[in-house]
Amino acid sequence: MDVIKINQILKDTAYERLGGREEELQCAKYLQKCCEEIGLKAEIESFDVELGDIHEAKLYIDGEEIPCKGFMCAGNADLEAPLYYLRNLDAYSLKQCKGKIVLIDGYMRYWTYQDIVDHGAVGFSVYDGHVNYGDEDIIQRELRPVVSHGRVIPGVSINVKTAIQFIKNDAKTAKIVLKQTEYTGKSRNVVAEIPGETEEYMIFTAHYDSTSLSTGAYDNMSGSIGLLGIAEHFMKHPHRYGLRFIWCGSEERGLLGSKAYCRDHEEELGKAALVINLDMIGCIMGRFIACCTSEDKLVHYIEYLAQEEGVGIAANDGVYSSDSTPFADKGVPAVSFARLAPDNTATIHNRYDTLEVMKAEQLMEDLDFIITFTEHMVNAKNCPVKREIPDSIKEKLDVYMFRKRGDHKLSKAGSR
Ligand SMILES: [Zn+2]
Repeated sequence: MDVIKINQILKDTAYERLGGREEELQCAKYLQKCCEEIGLKAEIESFDVELGDIHEAKLYIDGEEIPCKGFMCAGNADLEAPLYYLRNLDAYSLKQCKGKIVLIDGYMRYWTYQDIVDHGAVGFSVYDGHVNYGDEDIIQRELRPVVSHGRVIPGVSINVKTAIQFIKNDAKTAKIVLKQTEYTGKSRNVVAEIPGETEEYMIFTAHYDSTSLSTGAYDNMSGSIGLLGIAEHFMKHPHRYGLRFIWCGSEERGLLGSKAYCRDHEEELGKAALVINLDMIGCIMGRFIACCTSEDKLVHYIEYLAQEEGVGIAANDGVYSSDSTPFADKGVPAVSFARLAPDNTATIHNRYDTLEVMKAEQLMEDLDFIITFTEHMVNAKNCPVKREIPDSIKEKLDVYMFRKRGDHKLSKAGSR
C-alpha cells in the first residue's frame, strides 16, 4: 500500500455505498478485485437485509409541506395528529406523546423508540444536519427491525433548519404521508483467508458501506484500505496464526455484516483468537486511539508498544460502535483502531466525509503501527490476549446490544 494506491482507491470508491443497495455490491466487487491484485482470493458472502423502496414521503406542518425523507421499513401511512416536541425523556414529557406525532432531537435511539411507542405516539420525526451548514440535506433513515420489534409507527427525517423554524412558530399539527414497498434484499461481506501454521486464526474487519449522502472516505473506506494493506503485507510475511479478512457490509445499518458473519460462522469462532477492527483512520487532524474490548492488559500492551515505536496513542478498554463488537459479544476479544478527528475538522454520515479530510501519508503511518502490532499478535506462540471478556465489559455489551437499559457513553461519537 502506498500513497498513490490509497488516493486511487479513495477516488474509485467516492460514491454512496448504502447497505443492501447496488452501489454496495459494486464496491464489494471492487474490493474483490483489489484482493485479486495482491494474489488473494476473496469471496462475496451475502446475507439478508430489510429494505424499503419509498414511493412517496410527505410531511405537512400546520398544512404547509416540509421537505422530508421517509423512514425505510416504517410502513405506510396517511395520518394527521397533533405535533409534540419531545424535549426531555422524563415521565411527564413521555405521557404527552399519546396520540401525537413526536419530534425527537437528532437520532431515534432504541430506548426512545420503545418509550414513545409505549406511551402511544402515532408517528415521529427526527432531524439531522447542522444549523450553521450551508446545505439543506436530509439523511435517509430506517426503522430497524431490532428497534421496532414489529411495533411500527411511521416516521420521517427532516433538516434541522426546518425543525427549528416550525418549533419557533409554535407548530400545532403534523401530517405524515408515507408509501413504500418493503422487502428482504441482500447485503454482502467480502471475505478472504490467508492460512497460517495453526488452525487458530485472527480476524480483521473494516466496513466498506456508507450512510446516505456520504461517500464515506474517512468512514470507512480508510479502514477498508487499511485491511487491504494488512493483507498485502502478510501475503509476503510469515505469520503463525491464520488470517481472516472481512470487509463488512451494512455496518452503518446496525453492524449487520459482522452480525451475519458471527451468526453464519458461529462454530468457527471457537478458533478465533482476536479481532482487529479498523474504522476511520488516516484523516488529516485528530488523535489515534485503540479501543480494547478485552482484558485491560491489552490496553497496556498497546500503550507500551506505541511508546517503543514512537507513536502517540490513547488506548482504552470499552465497546467500540463498530464491527468488532458482535465478535466480542460472542466472546472473541477485539481491538478497534481509529484516528478520531475533532468535529470541526472532519465529520461523518454527511456530504462532507470526502477525500478532502484524508491524508494518505497519515493513513500509511496509522497502518504502520497497526501492522507492527499485528506482526506481534499473529506470530505469537500463543496469543497473549485472554479469550475472555471481563464482566465490566460484558455489562457494556448488554447495554450496547439493547439487552439492558443504560447510559454508558460509547467510545465513538456517532449514531448507531
Ligand atoms: Zn464507520
